[in-house]
Parts: sequence; structure tokens; C-alpha cells
Amino acid sequence: MESLLAGMSDPMKKLFQTEANLVLGTCAATGFMEMAARCGVKERVLSLVGGAFGERFAAVAAACGCEVVRLSVPLGETAEPDMLREAIERSDVDAVTVCHSETATGALAPLKEIAEVVNSFDDVQLLVDGVTSVAGTPVMTDEWGLDFVFTGAQKALALPPGLALGAASDRMLERARTIPGRGGYFDVVVHAKAFKSAQPTNTPGISTLFALARQFERIEAEGGIEARWDRHLDMQETVERWVAGRGGELGFSYLPREGRRTPTVSCLKVREGVNGRTYVLEMKKRGWIIGTGYGDLKEETIRIGHMGDHSVSEVEELLSVLEEVAS
Ligand SMILES: *Cc1c(COP(=O)(O)O)cnc(C)c1O
Repeated sequence: MESLLAGMSDPMKKLFQTEANLVLGTCAATGFMEMAARCGVKERVLSLVGGAFGERFAAVAAACGCEVVRLSVPLGETAEPDMLREAIERSDVDAVTVCHSETATGALAPLKEIAEVVNSFDDVQLLVDGVTSVAGTPVMTDEWGLDFVFTGAQKALALPPGLALGAASDRMLERARTIPGRGGYFDVVVHAKAFKSAQPTNTPGISTLFALARQFERIEAEGGIEARWDRHLDMQETVERWVAGRGGELGFSYLPREGRRTPTVSCLKVREGVNGRTYVLEMKKRGWIIGTGYGDLKEETIRIGHMGDHSVSEVEELLSVLEEVAS
């Protein structure tokens, strides 16, 4: 067990692009969302909400006793740096939560710019849901100055569920030590210390850790985390080219605007008068799984997940089947 955990350190540093503190737990990603709220917020937090997962972060923070101020944008959009600056000035918060890649809408927040704004304030910390961004697109924890970033096993890492992985800045740990009542199971201080000495915090789900170790080997074999980011970008661009051509002719268009699209999931509006569910069912009959829209977007949009171990040629094949279905 110790050697398995010790072997996680270098690959996790690359995954999160950090030399700071790492945490690894056998729980759903939402467990580490709770860790972020309980250990990273002193009193009041500004939550950027543009979809279901941004909202979940806000709700979890509220459930942990934080005062939550929401900065909401329409579905498919992202909070932009100027709005954020004003909102922080107005609300006197000590932390900001953001969902980097909003899986519900396919929108990618401008995280580097958001971090610049947050870090221009004194003692405001940035807590990041990177569940569908980490391993699929650059998340430069140290370079951008992110205080806490977390992900789960079952999204861009393409593993069975049951693992949460995270990175925490030194100042996040310093703050956490001063927060009373931050709980026991999701205490970032305990987790970071345990990780450093290659110990689990509690009885770990060992089998999932073996899967993670194997996946890290496969990431190296592909050419490292950078190659994985590149492949995700290629898959995104494949869908973008299709929407600009044949897909567009069939009535598909992007929900998020150009420059704000995540490389891990494409959320496409379907043509008027068509229910997106029909496409999902027809694709399923042909052996392909795509997602319906999320929440209020259930009928108007479809979501094509192209993260993890998927390839450009698989995306191309999927799009040609979708063409058949939509023609
Ligand atoms: C899936 C997802 C989560 C929740 O992950 P769990 O492992 O189910 O807790 C959180 N945030 C985003 C962006 C997600 O896509």
C-alpha cells in the first residue's frame, strides 16, 4: 500500500502541474468539493454558477455552513474577469468557487484570467472544480495560482469511479489550520500530511488505486499529460469542424461561444422542432452513447462526451452516425 501511494506523487504533480500539496481519497469527487468548502472558506464565498456543477459547489458550500453569494450567468456562458472583479469588491468574500469545465453546458471558464483577478485581492482563495478539466485540458495549478483543485477518477481519467484527487496550495493549508470545525474525514490538513508520508487517511479502496497506477503508466506511454491534452483538443476541433460544415447544415450549433468550449464535452443545440432525446435514443440503437442535455437544456441540446481514452477516429465515426440519424 505504501509503495502504491508513494508512486502516485510524481504522476499527480504532473497531472495538476504543481509542486505543492497533494491529496488522494477513495470517495466521489463531491467529497473533495466538500473538502474545498470546509477547509478553504473562512466565512463568505462567491460561487460562480453557469450550470448544474457550479450550482452544486455553491450548494455544498452552503450545506457546510458557509455564507454563499452567487454570481450567476446564463447556461452556456461563463463568468468573465470584469464581472468577477466587481462581484468580489461588492461582496467582501474570502474565497471564490468555480467549475472550470461545466459538464452540464460544455463551457470552459477562463481559469487563468479568473485566477489573476482573485489573486489581485488580499487573502481571497480560489477553489476549483476540475472534474472534467484535469487530465483533459491544461490546469496549471502553481503557475496560475490556484489554491485548491480537485477531480475524480471517472471523467477525463477514464477510470472506474471511486477516487478523488486534489492539489492544495500552502496558503490553503495555512488557512485550513485556522478553521475550527472543518470536520474529520475531509480535512485537507490530515489528507496532505498522509499523502506526504504515503499513508491512507482511513481504510482505502485499494482496487481503485491499482487502476489509477495503471492509468498513470498509460498516460506516460501516450507521451505524457501534454499529449493527453493535445488529443482532447483534437477531439474538440473535430466536432467544431463538423458543426462548421455538415453538422451545421443539419441544424447543430454550439451552446457555448468559441473560445469558451471545453475540450472534454461538446454541448450542441439541436435544430428547432426536434427533441434532442430522439437523437440520443437513435444513436443508442446503433450502439453509440451520447448524453441528453442537462436540466433545463434536456430537450434543446445533446452532449457528446469525448474525454478520457477516446480518440479522434472514434469521434469521427460517432459524428458520421449522428449525421445519418439527423438526416
Ligand atoms: C461529475 C462531476 C462532478 C461530480 O463527481 P462525483 O464523482 O459524482 O462526485 C462534479 N463536478 C463536475 C464538473 C462533474 O462533471
